[in-house]
Amino acid sequence: MGRYEFGGPVNVFFMIFGLPVTIYGLYVFCARDSCSVMTIPSLPPIGEFFNWKAMVVYVLWFVYHSLIYISPLGYTAKGMKLKDGSRLEYRMNGIHAFLLTHILFATAIYFDTPVSFVYDNYLALATSSIIFSTILSLYLYLKSFSHGALLAEGGNTGNVVYDFFIGRELNPRVGKMFDLKLFCEMRPGLVGWVFINYCLLVKEYELQGNVSVSMGLVCTFQFWYIFDGLWYEEAILTTMDVVHDGFGYMLAFGDLAWVPFTYSLQARYLVDHPVNLPMWAAAVIVGIKLLGYMTFRGANGQKDLFRRDPNHPSVKHLETLQTNRGTKLMISGWWGICRHPNYVGDLMMALSWSLPCGFNSILPYFYVTYFTILLIHRQLRDEKHCRAKYGHDWDKYCKIVKWRLIPYVY
Ligand code: NDP
Repeated sequence: MGRYEFGGPVNVFFMIFGLPVTIYGLYVFCARDSCSVMTIPSLPPIGEFFNWKAMVVYVLWFVYHSLIYISPLGYTAKGMKLKDGSRLEYRMNGIHAFLLTHILFATAIYFDTPVSFVYDNYLALATSSIIFSTILSLYLYLKSFSHGALLAEGGNTGNVVYDFFIGRELNPRVGKMFDLKLFCEMRPGLVGWVFINYCLLVKEYELQGNVSVSMGLVCTFQFWYIFDGLWYEEAILTTMDVVHDGFGYMLAFGDLAWVPFTYSLQARYLVDHPVNLPMWAAAVIVGIKLLGYMTFRGANGQKDLFRRDPNHPSVKHLETLQTNRGTKLMISGWWGICRHPNYVGDLMMALSWSLPCGFNSILPYFYVTYFTILLIHRQLRDEKHCRAKYGHDWDKYCKIVKWRLIPYVY
């Protein structure tokens, strides 16, 4: 396998700065009075970029989720076998955190707490998340040199910039049970995204006097995506992020800053740019979302179950390819249609989140565009890892399951 991914150290160096700039760019170009890539926007006053109140709110949010994570709520699950033969234990209580936060939010609304603070301080909150994730990444990089740290294959090249970005240590932990990667992947950012959406919905109500169908769809769809992810939280333990990637700037920034502050763009757009969605269009969009969800859930559920218990009655009947590595690859069911049916479902859902914003601006389509690039790149990365893991068996598998994502297209 090549030594470097993501275009190597130079590319990665520019990404470290380019990714936060993109968050700011989306805010500046998709502003209150205009949301277009064709108009040169005016920059917000410098004071809008940072304030201590937003920083405190962000840190409290992180601490609040950390406390739930280390609480006895939920159960403990075992991760996949590591290189050294051990299996780590993970606390699974994301759904509890989600439920508790809903109760907290409902209470805040009941007591007229000004949650539109999030809309008014969106930029400052984004800056706080960028600062926080950068500091966390520096800590992770330094911590990875501590005695006994199990290093990720890809993030241990010796190039400081590259390793800082990719992540040196595979499963950095505080104490025995606080898994920083799993926590950041599933909690402050993902749950934060849903609650940012809710705050934007409240702001729309304050400004427009009603909640639009489009806003309702965006918030419901994205709520459902996160609810599903947390309900099946254990499935994260078989994903590439947990099994293969180190925990560095790429994931820390992605989880804590990028996800909440770029994925909530559609809801932010709708606050300032109302869309009158006809019912037939809403019905078509719901149809796309449902089809996408069925594909996404079906494929992810099938793989997760198959990896955990290949003899389970729901997957036992599937045709498989035995590999020399010892594990089997499914060649029928969802995974017989193409090599990444879960990505296809995810992409259909991504499209259904942008469509409620109509066609007056291209910027609400940022997510689905970026996500297509991300998943094609991810699919190529995964394929490279699988070829390294499975050798000739992977070529055999590719001959049987020919299509990467869309049969007869790609
Ligand atoms: P997958 O969950 O698809 O895992 C890929 C691994 O599955 C492979 O490395 C291989 O590992 C195993 N596998 C591949 N083919 C088969 C087969 N035929 N039979 C059995 N096992 C197989 O990858 P990701 O971690 O990339 O994605 C997980 C989910 O997260 C996806 O739904 C994706 O869309 C979503 N996602 C969402 C993001 C977002 O920002 N919203 C970002 C990234 C991902 P092995 O054989 O070693 O088990």
